Amino acid sequence: MVALATDVPHPFEGAEGVLASVGDTPLIALDRSIRGLVPDGVSVLVKAEWFNPGGSVKDRPALSMVLDAERRGLIQPGHTLLDASSGNTGIALAMIAAVRGYTLVLCLPKNANEERKRILKAYGAQIVTTSPLEGSDGAIREARRLAEAHPEWHYINQYDNPANWQAHFGTTGPEIVRQTGRGVTHFVATVGTGGTFTGTSRYLKAALPNIEVVEVQPDSPFHGLEGLKHMETAIVPGIYDATLADRRMGAPTEESFAWVRRIAKHEGLLIGPSGGAAIWAAVEVAKTLTSGVVVTILADSGTRYLSESHIWETP
Ligand code: PMP
Repeated sequence: MVALATDVPHPFEGAEGVLASVGDTPLIALDRSIRGLVPDGVSVLVKAEWFNPGGSVKDRPALSMVLDAERRGLIQPGHTLLDASSGNTGIALAMIAAVRGYTLVLCLPKNANEERKRILKAYGAQIVTTSPLEGSDGAIREARRLAEAHPEWHYINQYDNPANWQAHFGTTGPEIVRQTGRGVTHFVATVGTGGTFTGTSRYLKAALPNIEVVEVQPDSPFHGLEGLKHMETAIVPGIYDATLADRRMGAPTEESFAWVRRIAKHEGLLIGPSGGAAIWAAVEVAKTLTSGVVVTILADSGTRYLSESHIWETP
């Protein structure tokens, strides 16, 4: 168990300008979309992470990783930052690099959607495209190669950087405890780097020993859930702590997309596919309870996927 340490700096300490508005996202109760599906006395609450200024949950770890490297004296404005990302971390890092005066080199699978590439370019990031067949693991391999070739660059390495999960330990976890008045009974999170799941779960387990935490991965290696990893068949991130999960669920792609559509029509929330997977799992958990408060994280907005018509059209 990790102690609720107060001797480490707050992960966002020193954030200025637009970066001061990272975190403190709304927690919203699902209502019309789950009526009749979930027993009375059970609520499902969702954390709307697209309210972050860079538009996703990844603002938190990206800011934490950059500020941590600055505090350690590893980087200063003018330096080049390097990482691999399927999109959201890249966008968060690109925004932060623009604010603080860094150059960002980002390895990104070639099939990342047009919205993402345009946002990255608007923020001034330099994109290195990698094989679409190799997905996010291909981008990781290219970033490792570039890190060796350019020792003068700072390799952020979100998959192995403790400041990633610490962002959630220091902010997402405490926000959930505060916003539910310590009432959260179940925490459900999808995993990509595992930072959200690992950091938030570590905090919640330390603060509320009876909480149950549920980890959600795609149910197969070939899935359409952008940002998520099927750990059995992927490069396993160093920061991902598989021992925390009280329960592990495999999200089906099509049902996750169906939740994306349902949540837009019945809650007025436009969410991305991993948010659909998170809600699918949260509702499955909620159905098994007679009372409780299930909280999950919605990583980004559906506006990042509007060009992907297969998500939005009913099969
Ligand atoms: N959903 C989306 C859309 C993401 O981009 C990510 C990050 N890759 C996640 C979920 C998972 O977050 P984490 O990296 O903290 O596991």
